[in-house]
Amino acid sequence: MSDLLSNLSNTPIAKQLGVPTVPRLRRFEPGQPLLSGPVLVTSVGDGRFAKPISALVEDNGQRSVTAERSDNGTSIDTAGEEKLNGVVLDLTGATTLADLATAQQILTPAVKKLGPSGRVLLLGAEPGEASGAEAAAVAQSLDGFVRSIGKELRFGATANLVIVAGDAAPSAVDSTVRFFLSSRSAYVDGQNVHVTVPVGPTLDPAGMDDPHDPDLPLRGRVAVVTGAARGIGASIAETLARDGATIVAVDIPAAGEGLAKTANRTGGTALQLDITADDAAERLIEHLRQRHGGVDLVVHNAGITRDKLLANMTDDRWNSVLAVNLGAQLTINAALLDSDVLNESARIVCVSSQSGIAGNRGQTNYAASKAGVIGMVRALAPKAAERGVTINAVAPGFIETEMTGKMPIGTREAGRRVNSLKQGGLPVDVAETIGWLGQAESGGVNGQVVRVCGQSMLGA
Ligand code: NAD
Repeated sequence: MSDLLSNLSNTPIAKQLGVPTVPRLRRFEPGQPLLSGPVLVTSVGDGRFAKPISALVEDNGQRSVTAERSDNGTSIDTAGEEKLNGVVLDLTGATTLADLATAQQILTPAVKKLGPSGRVLLLGAEPGEASGAEAAAVAQSLDGFVRSIGKELRFGATANLVIVAGDAAPSAVDSTVRFFLSSRSAYVDGQNVHVTVPVGPTLDPAGMDDPHDPDLPLRGRVAVVTGAARGIGASIAETLARDGATIVAVDIPAAGEGLAKTANRTGGTALQLDITADDAAERLIEHLRQRHGGVDLVVHNAGITRDKLLANMTDDRWNSVLAVNLGAQLTINAALLDSDVLNESARIVCVSSQSGIAGNRGQTNYAASKAGVIGMVRALAPKAAERGVTINAVAPGFIETEMTGKMPIGTREAGRRVNSLKQGGLPVDVAETIGWLGQAESGGVNGQVVRVCGQSMLGA
């Protein structure tokens, strides 16, 4: 279902009619450079990330600029009228209210210079690790600070916060910083992500100066995607294949035609499998062992809705939704973590939903299942980490799919607009987020829930 307001708002007639502007988001295309303009990179206090992130910016062909502060204010040298593509402020060493005031003094002029689809990325310390109440308060204040910046930015710009553990080296945040600065994170806004010392072996001891192939960050990795016959799952399979992964596309036999198409498009293989079948985990593991020897990325995307008000809920509707959306993931994850098919640095990504965070009328079964996915991910993360594996969830908000296209127009319009970016996301936005979490280099992100919702007001 096309977004009429979005299409109209980019035409000359829109201004005359007073149609609200829906920004056009910059999205990733193969070969696109990481950055499209200069990035302000600076720190307040003893930040250890500004230097390597500056190097990352310069390595990617853009100018890393700094902010000069004097009694007359803050000046940012962007070579005349040039817009900033991003602002990265390392606040991991900020511990006092004076530090926080300095952050404001830098960010106020910086956001004025931010271009369309620009990025504000703050790095902060873990509040729980702070020594003293003031330092903890300052670390925690960044959460409210970033969420508010996200709500104020316009023209498709986003603001996010990376909270870094005190013992994590700069290389631990590399893939996360790349994701948030790039157009791959187009619909991830107002989020915070915790980064710890990566699980498993150190993958990139040379740190940020020695990046992987930025065009093929999943090269050599085998990725299973469930529910891959259509919708978001098909987009996940295509995006992971574009980034270099070998795809094992899974879906029910009734979706065989769509599944075969996904497998063909991605150059991968199709596995017809009902993930709720008693032997589903066994068959999946056997398939992976025989065909590929192991697996590097498992994406639990298959999901169903059977909406009814609780007063009219049948056991069948309840049980089928819980079985596909949660029960199957629990069983398969338990089997995978007990098996030998998860390769070192394997990543598991589970698709939850904004409904699992905010709840939704008519979706008690669906919301319970999707909230359950979040509980499962948090519970399994420590066990997964023991063998170098991570498990995370993505929680999509309103995504333009067949499912949302069938909503009544009022509900659909509300879903599209009640977020900071004033539009629905695309399946590829969910897929790009999974691609980042799926990288071997993302081992510092574990047990997290990342919303892909354009900073939806629901459940925030
Ligand atoms: P979709 O209905 O278009 O696709 C789901 C796929 O899962 C289908 O191909 C279906 O055949 C497959 N599937 C269903 N039961 C299965 C089973 N037992 N075994 C194997 N495969 C099975 O849905 P979508 O909109 O692409 O959503 C994909 C995921 O994203 C779901 O988990 C959904 O809950 C979640 N999600 C979607 C939205 C949205 O706006 N569309 C928002 C939040 C979360």
